[in-house]
Amino acid sequence: MKSVCVFCGCSDGRRKEFVEAAGRLGRTLAERGLTVVYGGATVGLMGQLADAALKAGGEVVGVIPERFIDRPRNIAHQGLTELHVVDTMHRRKELMAQLADAFIALPGGLGTLEEMLEALCWVQLRLHAKPCGLLDVGGYYQPLLRMLDVAVAEEFLKPEHRNLLAVAETPEALLDQFAHFQPPETPKLPCL
Ligand code: AMP
Repeated sequence: MKSVCVFCGCSDGRRKEFVEAAGRLGRTLAERGLTVVYGGATVGLMGQLADAALKAGGEVVGVIPERFIDRPRNIAHQGLTELHVVDTMHRRKELMAQLADAFIALPGGLGTLEEMLEALCWVQLRLHAKPCGLLDVGGYYQPLLRMLDVAVAEEFLKPEHRNLLAVAETPEALLDQFAHFQPPETPKLPCL
């Protein structure tokens, strides 16, 4: 594994521990020589993550849609190792997925949730076979995990697909789980 894509809020969130967790993740990835791939902005947890990784000597690659630049202000990070400016949100997610060997979600809002669930859905469909994990800071992701358990109980989600999602409270524990990640052996649609 050489690079990790991090999805996270473009806000700081209400609790100080979210900002601290973004910094800790950025530092940990940099110290392990892993390139950070992320949404390319200076704002919120995204900015905290990128700044911490850069400060620790790491490489950080941003992928940002053109529409976020200069509207209403320029939030593209100017100090990154590399910044890709793309046309659309879809192209951004595609490129982030190509550039990364694994996916981690810190706390975040709709953007973070949809990015992470898409990455996980693509493992289920075997469009890629890269580990996905939640950094469950202060229990932020417990309601989402309960929702996934409901989906299993109601037979919309197979337990083996539910279990593809790693969950940990620290970056170190999450990366350890990634080291043992096994993608599903055969491509399997959820409904078959
Ligand atoms: P949210 O979780 O709704 O705050 O959205 C953050 C996630 O969606 C990040 O992982 C980004 O990839 C993407 N995103 C949403 N809004 C922005 C923005 N203004 N600038 C850069 N990326 C964004």
